[in-house]
Amino acid sequence: MKQQSRRSFLANSTKASIALGIGSTMIGSSLLTSCRSAKPGNNPFHTGFDQKPLPYDYKALEPYIDATTMEIHYTKHAAAYAKNLNDAAVAEGVDRSKPLENVFGQISKFSEKLRNNAGGHYNHELFWQSMRASRPDNKPEGAMLSAIEAKFNSFGNFKNVFSDAAKSRFGSGWAWLILMGDKQLIVSSTPNQDNPLMDVAGTKGIPLLGIDVWEHAYYLKYQNKRADYIDNWWNLVNWDYVTNRYETAMK
Ligand code: MN
Repeated sequence: MKQQSRRSFLANSTKASIALGIGSTMIGSSLLTSCRSAKPGNNPFHTGFDQKPLPYDYKALEPYIDATTMEIHYTKHAAAYAKNLNDAAVAEGVDRSKPLENVFGQISKFSEKLRNNAGGHYNHELFWQSMRASRPDNKPEGAMLSAIEAKFNSFGNFKNVFSDAAKSRFGSGWAWLILMGDKQLIVSSTPNQDNPLMDVAGTKGIPLLGIDVWEHAYYLKYQNKRADYIDNWWNLVNWDYVTNRYETAMK
């Protein structure tokens, strides 16, 4: 196909998918896959190899996430990722004085144990910080809100796109809002404990916000109703923390 005809073919395909994409799911899937960056961008954050204390009590996120789920999630699941990460890092010669983020760009060169537990530890450390006690009408402000509206048309549509990614992740994994190397926001999801900093990720970038959709994150309270957990989780997002990550990553 010649360059010009290929370009008009792509333009027509885009028009066709916009014409068909009446529901938020269709708009969402086009925003999910329309552009991908090969490089995640320069990560400005420094996550350690050990668990930080939870920034709130186990009951702080009730009624949306119950205290028992939080206690088991933090002291059992996440604690095990941190322990196994440290064991694997020692065995595989990873320098633990460097940011954990440094290992993700070449994670495919390490063992499955390191990949799963490095991702598991990092993802949960981010997850705890990105929540707080619920607030009515919880939404970002300022530059974060403007960037979301510019990319996703509205905050409501962004929530639909992100929620769709979380609800449709088959099995265990995470959905993300990430900043790509070209400073564009995008929603993605990863399986298991992978994350968008990993060289194996289909869509790469700096994670600003992530939701854990492993059953251990919600099953005690919500059983099979993952969608209810996701819908309620929006009340808990710590937009001050997410905005701070966004502004730091944009510098
Ligand atoms: Mn988890």
